[in-house]
Amino acid sequence: MAYPRAEDGRLGLVGLFPKALSFLLLFALLVLGLLGGLWFHREPVVTSFTQETYLAPQPPSPHRSLRVGLVAGHLGHDSGAVCADGLTEVEVNTAIAQEAARRLEALGYTVDVLQEFDKRLYGYRAAALLSIHADSCEYINELATGFKVARAQADAVPERSDRLVACLISAYGKSTGLRFHKDSITYDMTEYHAFREIAPETPAAIIEVGFLYLDRDLLTRERKRVVEGIVEGLRCFLEEGP
Ligand SMILES: [Zn+2]
Repeated sequence: MAYPRAEDGRLGLVGLFPKALSFLLLFALLVLGLLGGLWFHREPVVTSFTQETYLAPQPPSPHRSLRVGLVAGHLGHDSGAVCADGLTEVEVNTAIAQEAARRLEALGYTVDVLQEFDKRLYGYRAAALLSIHADSCEYINELATGFKVARAQADAVPERSDRLVACLISAYGKSTGLRFHKDSITYDMTEYHAFREIAPETPAAIIEVGFLYLDRDLLTRERKRVVEGIVEGLRCFLEEGP
């Protein structure tokens, strides 16, 4: 039996109008509902995003924005120790000082990288001053490895500088694994010229980060650990309140 197509078609066309209308209406409602849903959905997303970006910076600490001075040993003056292949102490010291400065600045501190005889050292006021040097690049013996930290012999704030020294010894030793040379701190270190130039209330120390001969790999290829030790040593001191 043939299906009554024409009739069905006619009926269909007429019958389809309200159907199409209701379908359109339904579709429009669906779209509106979807848009509305998206809109309401967007709100918490936006809120949590703004909340996140608002909360992301660490809470303001009274220690942030403190000033720290880092002397890149020998910079602007001479090369310091020189290795047989031409590696100089000044380039090692400067790379360490600059990298440590970047790290400290990222933590919110204000950092001055100073030259060995920087004019700014006269009356220099800061939460801490650290002069960065490295030891000889000549082979002395198998014991010529390790680091030294000292404060001025005549320090106007000895308790604070002692705490700075203690923080540096602990953090630097931990980060680098180097031995602390307690017994070979020289007159040059404790009578270091910058100690006499800075403001007496500025806690200050000098570090010999290692020997350029035996500790060369650490000082050049593993500089991250050296920088980490210095940054953590300074933070240990600064965050306790200088
Ligand atoms: Zn030096």
